[in-house]
Amino acid sequence: MKNFKSPPNPSSKKRGEIKKNFMRIKENFVCGNCGFEVVGDGYTDHCPKCLWGKHVDEEIPGDRASDCRGLMEPMAAKLQSANFKYKIEYKCTKCRHRFNVREGEGDDREILFKLAAE
Ligand SMILES: [Zn+2]
Ligand SMILES: [Zn+2]
Repeated sequence: MKNFKSPPNPSSKKRGEIKKNFMRIKENFVCGNCGFEVVGDGYTDHCPKCLWGKHVDEEIPGDRASDCRGLMEPMAAKLQSANFKYKIEYKCTKCRHRFNVREGEGDDREILFKLAAE
């Protein structure tokens, strides 16, 4: 008869902590202008359907330093020759803070073109 021994555990001690993958904060939000449910990818700061945003950033996109939470109205868009991306100019409807953000993926092109033409 064989004597069954449980194999020795090669790593009885847990090694440190598992390194976490870098994570962006993904925020989903409901557009305050058109009601579209925006699924955030970590960079999303405005609604791709109507391009309205929310006043959450103060100086840098993503800093979330503002607690205004007013609706940001897209005023104009400018095509940047460096990367052929639109920069959207916003004005907060609540505090009139002005802010520029880069276009997001899936932004409505027609609205972008319209903003750029004005
Ligand atoms: Zn919207
Ligand atoms: Zn504001």
